[in-house]
Amino acid sequence: MQKISLVIPVYNEEQSLPALFERTLAAMDKLKRPYEIIFVNDGSRDGSMDLLRVQYDKRPDVVRIIDFNGNFGQHMAIVAGFAKVSGDVVITMDADLQNPPEEIARMAAEFEKGHDVVGTIRENRDDSFYRKFCSKIVNIITNKITGLNIHDYGCMLRLYSRNIADIIAHSEEGTTFIPAFAQKFASNPTEIIISHSRREKGVSKYSFFRLVSLNFDLMTNFSLVPLQFITISGLIISLLSVLFAVFLFVRRLIIGPEAEGLFTLFAISFFLTGFLISSIGIVGEYIGRISKEVRKRPKYVIKKEYGLGDE
Ligand code: UDP
Ligand code: MG
Repeated sequence: MQKISLVIPVYNEEQSLPALFERTLAAMDKLKRPYEIIFVNDGSRDGSMDLLRVQYDKRPDVVRIIDFNGNFGQHMAIVAGFAKVSGDVVITMDADLQNPPEEIARMAAEFEKGHDVVGTIRENRDDSFYRKFCSKIVNIITNKITGLNIHDYGCMLRLYSRNIADIIAHSEEGTTFIPAFAQKFASNPTEIIISHSRREKGVSKYSFFRLVSLNFDLMTNFSLVPLQFITISGLIISLLSVLFAVFLFVRRLIIGPEAEGLFTLFAISFFLTGFLISSIGIVGEYIGRISKEVRKRPKYVIKKEYGLGDE
């Protein structure tokens, strides 16, 4: 029977952990098949690590822990987990129980049907209006730009075949967006609809700026469309300027010299300045990530592992 490896990133989740252990272990035990749960402690500064260790002592048969040296981000925590899995099927889940661990059985059933990636779409997503609104727009734009066709980029309860998890674990990239990466290499992906609840304990670990940065990771990692958009816009603007210059020249011959339209000029000039600065910004987002990649710093640093043959 195929073994399931569950990978859960944990960052300051001491309030969510007790319920997480209880529900997740119960749901996994119910499946009646071999499994392991790899918790990746992403540099928590609260009591998360102590709680994890207690849980490890209670269930050393299934609980594994990777303890990071610092905070390397949710996606890097998952990559570290993928590098250590021993199962045939790998599932990622958040620690805050916004996605029900009870749905894992349904996801495993999809895997058995031959799908190598099983994504999820949150039904009646129970988040703030502002988060839902932003996600909707981001989902639409990202799908257009990357051509990936994922319906819900934000939902991290996802299943991957071991093969896909290995590809992700061995990629050299220092920034990544795992659902998109997996979708790109999947041969037969599918999506199922799952329920979603509000975060009951603790707060979201993503501030507005972290969310923006995460979305830039997604864009720059999976598409060159933003750069092509700048190039094409530049070409169109140049073409329009030539036409405009011809128009002004003819007008000058017919009407003679004029000095009207100063504020129109301001408007055009402000628009172009804004366009230029944001274009430099977009190019910069790519260059910043290139410079990060070429430095080849470690993607994450592990302080200690528990249950992974490293004690
Ligand atoms: N997380 C992490 N490192 C981080 C930020 C988040 O490991 O730097 C984990 C967090 O503990 C949780 C998951 O990633 O298990 C998703 O975080 P959160 O629920 O705060 O995100 P949201 O649901 O608000 O998008
Ligand atoms: Mg959450």
